[in-house]
Amino acid sequence: MTLGHRLKARIAATGPMTLAEYMAECLLDPAEGYYATRDPLGRAGDFTTAPEISQMFGELVGLALAQSWIDQGAPSPFALAELGPGRGTLMADIWRAAAVVPGFRDAARVHLVEASPKLREVQARWLRDLPVTWHGSAETFPEAPLWLIANEFFDALPIRQLQRSGEAWRERVVGLRDGALALGLTDPAPRPDLGGRLADTPEGGIVEIRPAAAPVMAAIEERIASRGGAALIIDYGDWRSRGDTFQALKGHAFADPFAEPGAADLTAHVDFEALARAAPRLQASRLTPQGVWLERLGIGQRAARLAESLQGAERMSHLAATRRLTDAAEMGNLFKVLALVAQGAPLPPGFEPDRT
Ligand code: SAH
Repeated sequence: MTLGHRLKARIAATGPMTLAEYMAECLLDPAEGYYATRDPLGRAGDFTTAPEISQMFGELVGLALAQSWIDQGAPSPFALAELGPGRGTLMADIWRAAAVVPGFRDAARVHLVEASPKLREVQARWLRDLPVTWHGSAETFPEAPLWLIANEFFDALPIRQLQRSGEAWRERVVGLRDGALALGLTDPAPRPDLGGRLADTPEGGIVEIRPAAAPVMAAIEERIASRGGAALIIDYGDWRSRGDTFQALKGHAFADPFAEPGAADLTAHVDFEALARAAPRLQASRLTPQGVWLERLGIGQRAARLAESLQGAERMSHLAATRRLTDAAEMGNLFKVLALVAQGAPLPPGFEPDRT
C-alpha cells in the first residue's frame, strides 16, 4: 500500500488528522517519506539551499561562529552542532574556513541532528574526516558549550493551522472528500494559548504554530544559558507568522501538497518570535535579513577575491550566486537570521541587539 493509501485508510478509520500529523508522515515515513528516502538538494533535486549555491555562505557562517567562540573565551571542548545538515555541505565549508582559527578545530566536537537515514549516509561520506556524532534530536546533545547552526531546518518541522472564528479558532485538518485528501475545518473552540493573536488576526485569518520547535529550542537554551555558546538560525519567514504559508515544492516548482504524499517537500515559513519565546533565558539579536548579514560579514570582498581567479561562464555563475544569496529580490530579504546567546554574552558578528 502506498503512503497515500495508508493515510486515506487511517483517516477513514479514525477521522481527519492535523496538518502537523500529515506533514510528519509525508516527510519522515520510513518507507516513502520525502526526506527519509531521498537527497532532495541540488540541481537534479526539488530545491536548492544557500550552502549549495556558494561555498561563501558556509565560509562566512564558519568565521562568524569561530569569532563568537573566541569572544566567549574559546572554551575547549565545545559542541559544534547543526540541525538538518542536508548533504553536509555547510558543515564541510564551516570546517574548512575555521581551519585558520587557532585551536577551533581541536576543541570542536561535531554533533548533527538528522532524521533521514539517506541523508546521514551522504553526510558521513562528505564529513568523513570530522569528529561527528549523529542525533535524532537536540535533546541528546552533550552538556557542553554549544555553537549551533540551523539553515532551512525549522521550516521543515510540521505546523498546525488555526483559523480565527470570532473569539475562537477552527483548525484546518486533512480529511477525505470524494475519496481524495482534502482540507477541512474543525468546529470552533477556544484556544487560550492563541489569545495574543486575536489582536493581529482578522476574522477568517490563519495563524500557524509549530509544536515540535519548542523542545528543540529548550534543549539549545539549556546548554547555551548554562555553558555558553550561540545559536544561528537561518530560514525564510519573519518575526511573526501571518497567514497561510504552507507550501509544497517539487522539481523547483510549487505543487499540490495533497496530490502525492511523500513526493513533494512540505514546508511553512518560520515564526522567529515563537522560536525566541521558546528560549526565554537567552538574549535574541534583532532579526536580520540574510543579505544584510552576509554583507556585514564581508561577502562583497570575499566574492571579489574569488572572482579574480575565475573567467567566462564560471565567473558569471559565481557572480549570479553572490546575487542570489544577497539580493533583496532573491534570497537576501526572504531569508532572515536570528542569533541567540546567553544574557549578557556578546552577540556574534553582524548582529545588533533586539530593539525591545
Ligand atoms: N541545512 C541543509 C538542508 C536543509 S533541508 C541545507 O541548508 O542545505 C532540511 C534538513 O532537515 C534535511 O537534512 C532533513 O532531512 C532534515 N530534517 C527535516 N525534518 C527533520 C526532523 N524532524 N528531525 C531531524 N532532521 C530533520
